Amino acid sequence: MKALSNKVAGIASSATLDIADRAKAMAREGIDVISLSIGEPDFDTPQHIRDACCESLRRGDTHYAPSRGIPELLQAIAAKIQAENGFPCSSDQVIATAGAKHAIAMAMEACLNPNDEVILLDPAWVSYEPCVQLAGGRVVHHKLNPKTFLPDDTLLDRVTGRTKMIVVNSPSNPTGAVWDKKALKLVADLCTDYELLAMSDEIYEKLIYGKEHISLASVGDMAGRTITINGFSKAYAMTGWRLGYAVAPVEVIRQMTKIQQHGVSHPSTFVMWAGVTALKGDQAPVEAMRKEFEARRMFLMDEFSGMKVRMAPPDGAFYAFIDARGDDVEVAEHWLTKARVAVTPGTAFYAPGWIRISYATAMPRLREAMSRIRAVWNEAPERRGGRGGV
Ligand code: PMP
Repeated sequence: MKALSNKVAGIASSATLDIADRAKAMAREGIDVISLSIGEPDFDTPQHIRDACCESLRRGDTHYAPSRGIPELLQAIAAKIQAENGFPCSSDQVIATAGAKHAIAMAMEACLNPNDEVILLDPAWVSYEPCVQLAGGRVVHHKLNPKTFLPDDTLLDRVTGRTKMIVVNSPSNPTGAVWDKKALKLVADLCTDYELLAMSDEIYEKLIYGKEHISLASVGDMAGRTITINGFSKAYAMTGWRLGYAVAPVEVIRQMTKIQQHGVSHPSTFVMWAGVTALKGDQAPVEAMRKEFEARRMFLMDEFSGMKVRMAPPDGAFYAFIDARGDDVEVAEHWLTKARVAVTPGTAFYAPGWIRISYATAMPRLREAMSRIRAVWNEAPERRGGRGGV
């Protein structure tokens, strides 16, 4: 066999999925392992959304659809953006995709030329860098201040003549930080001054505790230079359905549509009909799930503050990002083998010294996981205190 693609060979596999796979393998061997490593709500998709999909199949929606998505969904997304996110949006600025992840991958391909630079703010979610690399671009990492996990003026130091885009993710995976107006304005000013594009991944927008979600595209002139990414996986517990979307200037959407046409054609037709119901139907389940996440978050905050463990401000998403007080990879390994609790080392998010704990796990299991972690906490290797930092 001739050598396969160097570009793909150079890409790391997903650290979060790797750890989840290890935990699953342990479970298959009969080991009682608790996985706090995966970014997936533990709730089932609300019944009325599942019913809408069944109804769509019964109606016979089993054929190809327009490649940008069914008009009813594109219109529902545009209406949602106008009503909730505070910037103008028509349905020709929307593309429905097979998950937010694919929207991100296609947006990178649609925008980047070889060696264009994309600024990532660390700690950053695991898939941004591979998406940039597969699109031929180059990632420039910028470490956020580990006290706030928000940007400051030092971000300007990363801008070069080759900078094309900056990626913002609020609420953040892995830190849970929610960006305020000041942080968004800083990025908006930078994008305007240097004519940069922005990608704003807002997939956790519905999971916020006591703060307000602000869309980057609603700040200044950012609607004309922002690709807003969102989806159904987190807000509606629809991870397995693979439905997401991007909202962007029409030139970007046209480019993305070509990629979609020659790749997956469009998301599954009946799944898109379920998406219409998710957006237009009863929103009470979204709030019920948020409330349950909020209770778990309080529990973890109490636990870790009792243990005097530093934690990033857990204002959104469903992650506790804590100071590992040592080598994060070793600590995670220790917890997996000794406590049988799977968590993700911060190194996966370019943040060595930190650990991400997903609280998308029911309270009884979360309580059990914390009692196991407490039991091994002081035995963990290199527990000399205070390395932390990103
Ligand atoms: N962005 C972030 C920050 C995420 O955490 C995830 C899922 N883990 C995604 C995008 C992708 O979501 P989807 O299931 O819609 O592809």
